[in-house]
Amino acid sequence: MKTITVFKGDGIGPEICDATLQILKAAKAPLAFECFEVGEAEYERNGKLIPDEAYASFEKNRILLKAPITTPIGKGFKSLNVTLRNKYDLYANIRPAKSNTAVKTPFPDVDIVTFRENTEDLYVGVEEKIDENTVHATKIITRKASERIIRDAFQYAVDHGRKKVTCVHKANILKMSDGMFLDIFHEIAKEFPTIASDDKIVDNVCMQLVMRPETFDIMVMPNLYGDIVSDLTSGLIGGLGLLPSCNLGSDYAMFEAVHGSAPDIAGKHIANPTAILWSACMMLEYLGEDACAANIRQAVDAVLQEAKVLTPDLHGTSTTEEYRDAIIAHLQA
Ligand code: NAD
Repeated sequence: MKTITVFKGDGIGPEICDATLQILKAAKAPLAFECFEVGEAEYERNGKLIPDEAYASFEKNRILLKAPITTPIGKGFKSLNVTLRNKYDLYANIRPAKSNTAVKTPFPDVDIVTFRENTEDLYVGVEEKIDENTVHATKIITRKASERIIRDAFQYAVDHGRKKVTCVHKANILKMSDGMFLDIFHEIAKEFPTIASDDKIVDNVCMQLVMRPETFDIMVMPNLYGDIVSDLTSGLIGGLGLLPSCNLGSDYAMFEAVHGSAPDIAGKHIANPTAILWSACMMLEYLGEDACAANIRQAVDAVLQEAKVLTPDLHGTSTTEEYRDAIIAHLQA
């Protein structure tokens, strides 16, 4: 029995998190949960977005299942997501986007894994007001952070029988920062002679992902492009409700949906919990509980395939809870 920390988030966070925990329990996942309220509501109650005991739990358990958290715009809050990634050096953000035959889209052959560098680039949040009409933002790219995310992408390709890694960049304009990232990519590619490699400029990637998504396999890129391009890949497979992720560092691991707290549908019980549920499956696989993850994955596939109980983002009319119950009903004993 492994104890994990759970942040229930805000917006749709508690709804999709509760559904996921109930499915994990029904699947007899060998997990114990330490659950915490985090986010804006917790700030109103206790003056802290993440309570100290929630941090302490993650530092003890080292594995976090995290529901989305709202980042208030323009109120001086630093994004909690960025804070967590930096505080625990969760440098590798891995986002697998795979077409599912049950979810009809114009793109049936997508199977792309995005490796997003998670700790630097423009997300260091260093901005400087030069005068009333001029603001500078600092983009940081280091050799250390670039090497480790690029090497992880190639190693993942080897470990998962993948064929190609594509470096996504804007080195034609950002010759020093993205230029160094690209140089390091070519250096590390030589260490993995069995894996094909190429590089593409990020704007071209956005076009090609829509025209020829089946030509992409694994992509590795700095933080900002990874944020944007991975949302694009979620659109190819049917939307944000279907894109899971993990954030890995040397000592800690955090699993979360790629989407945010969706304030427009919060409290309506229509949010799709699949992305956080698949993130929980990635967590089970990380813990070596592959059979339990496979049982949950086949139950989700069956419900999607039947297409009787689907949430509105997948053109259904069911609630989060009805979808949860349909998945539980398809679990194998
Ligand atoms: P969002 O991802 O929350 O929502 C974008 C659109 O997708 C909305 O129309 C929403 O209803 C829909 N959507 C998202 N998840 C869905 C789901 N599971 N089921 C059905 N529909 C879903 O993006 P946003 O509105 O730009 O951001 C809202 C808040 O979330 C912001 O404060 C942002 O900072 C935060 N955010 C948090 C995370 C995180 O915690 N990891 C990630 C991204 C955004």
